[in-house]
Amino acid sequence: MEKYEKLEKVGEGTYGKVYKAKDKATGQLVALKKTRLEMDEEGVPPTALREVSLLQLLSQSLYVVRLLSVEHVDGGSKRKAAAAAAAEGAGAGEGHGGAVGGGKPMLYLVFEYLDTDLKKFIDSHRKGPNPRPVPAATVQNFLYQLLKGVAHCHSHGVLHRDLKPQNLLVDKEKGILKIADLGLGRAFTVPLKSYTHEVVTLWYRAPEVLLGSAHYSIGVDMWSVGCIFAEMVRRQALFPGDSEFQQLLHIFRLLGTPTEKQWPGVTTLRDWHVYPQWEPQNLARAVPSLGPDGVDLLSKMLKYDPAERISAKAALDHPFFDSLDKSQF
Ligand code: AMP
Repeated sequence: MEKYEKLEKVGEGTYGKVYKAKDKATGQLVALKKTRLEMDEEGVPPTALREVSLLQLLSQSLYVVRLLSVEHVDGGSKRKAAAAAAAEGAGAGEGHGGAVGGGKPMLYLVFEYLDTDLKKFIDSHRKGPNPRPVPAATVQNFLYQLLKGVAHCHSHGVLHRDLKPQNLLVDKEKGILKIADLGLGRAFTVPLKSYTHEVVTLWYRAPEVLLGSAHYSIGVDMWSVGCIFAEMVRRQALFPGDSEFQQLLHIFRLLGTPTEKQWPGVTTLRDWHVYPQWEPQNLARAVPSLGPDGVDLLSKMLKYDPAERISAKAALDHPFFDSLDKSQF
């Protein structure tokens, strides 16, 4: 880790802090992420190796944040850990306390650095000195890149499971969007609380996940993409629930309470209850500045029956993107 000069903390992920750092040899800015992939006496556990190689494979897409390197920090011996802590320098602040005194060896992931994320990008259009809509061409362009990244992951059999604006990194100058925080160690579930007990957002979570479905698939990511699409247009979240129950009610109030006819099997899901009966509202009214093609695509991403939800690959061919110059991708 001495190869990197740790700069400031840039974010908190579900599983740990993210630091901006500089590669001392090349001057390249990178993002350092401590993983939960702990080493044991036997070295790197095979599950960790599998996850890292999968991440490496996925990060070959232009639309997935690039994994530059994986660093193994040996926290085993007191002396080495103390030396590493000293080498980190005064500016580094924290993070090495656990290593001194026989801390666990850890894996750090080194990613390319992008200057902002989609949450900050949308916020800067909603508030601050210059509130303005996100230009329609930017919405179209970012959604296309997001779908490219998601299609790439799905074609390798990987679900993200936690797509949200904070996980989408943006290079404002170049107009590039990339998916970050790909399911490391998140084999089966997304926790409700982060490592700092921060509440994990439910706003992008698909109804089948909220209803406790045991088997879910690519539809969960497409639901999140739909919510993110709407949020870029509205500059505010489509379904801002603060509990799993409230999250479902937000969805039901807009899209109508789901029925067996629309979504066969819904009433047999583990967490299904009897809910108030709402009629579906006009989706276009929730995204007033979006044209009919956009509303049509959004409605296909927000289908209740996950099997009916549009795939990322099919979405890329939707008429909403007809006016986009695809040669740049
Ligand atoms: P994550 O755990 O990937 O969701 O990261 C949490 C936050 O850290 C994100 O919302 C970003 O603001 C920031 N971040 C993560 N990865 C990077 C990166 N490669 N470059 C710049 N910022 C990042």
